[in-house]
Amino acid sequence: MARVLVVEDNPANMKLAVLLLEKAGYAVLQAKEAETGLALARAEHPDLILMDIQLPGMDGLTATRLLKNDAATAAIKIIALTAFAMKGDEENIRAAGCDGYIAKPIRYKKFLAEVETHLAGKSFSENP
Ligand code: MN
Repeated sequence: MARVLVVEDNPANMKLAVLLLEKAGYAVLQAKEAETGLALARAEHPDLILMDIQLPGMDGLTATRLLKNDAATAAIKIIALTAFAMKGDEENIRAAGCDGYIAKPIRYKKFLAEVETHLAGKSFSENP
């Protein structure tokens, strides 16, 4: 069973993500802020991380950079969860080392398709 870490501070988004992932058969780890997410990623080595960009304290892109610059966690796939829809955001997300992104609000089919794609080993699929 693939294990997915969700780093998300919004309770409604977290609840929805966890529900969808568990229903799809994934084991889910949860963190409400980047620091906890980093600790869980290092300790548990999930197969995939869904990383909210806007978090209290350290933001998701900074956390992604830390994980991708550390040999112990660099191989973990990271998908950004972003409410940003501005041009240039995808560049910032890619530059931080994210393997893809999912635009919020979460739409369940797209969400699960993106998760499955990344667990299958592909990277940075189109997801407008
Ligand atoms: Mn947030």
